[in-house]
Amino acid sequence: MTPELPSDVADALGLLLGTGDATHQALRRQVPHLRISARCTCGCGTTYFDLDADSVPAAPSPAGTVVVAQAQLFDAEEDWIGEVLAFARNGYLTWLEVCSITDSPLTLTEALRMLRSSGVSGTSGDHG
Ligand SMILES: [Zn+2]
Repeated sequence: MTPELPSDVADALGLLLGTGDATHQALRRQVPHLRISARCTCGCGTTYFDLDADSVPAAPSPAGTVVVAQAQLFDAEEDWIGEVLAFARNGYLTWLEVCSITDSPLTLTEALRMLRSSGVSGTSGDHG
């Protein structure tokens, strides 16, 4: 039995991963199969995943660990305060990182609120 992914994690991945390219489409199909393996202990929203690689195909992303999606985070004054990054290893989602450039860590809830208010849709490094 696979416990369901928390909705904040699923929502963040849904916002980060677009629908326009094959890599993101394949990664989206992995989301229902993800389980949380660990969360960062510093208070930020960084979350590590477990995924049964037999249950879903790998995405066509480069071998090794790569950033497959990212979005910048801006506060209410539109100052850049961090970013959210999705990493995959060998084509499978492995972790979601919430980076803060300020002294206080950003939670996933805060990151989601900023992603939604900025209307971000997924970006990926390997196409224009
Ligand atoms: Zn942390």
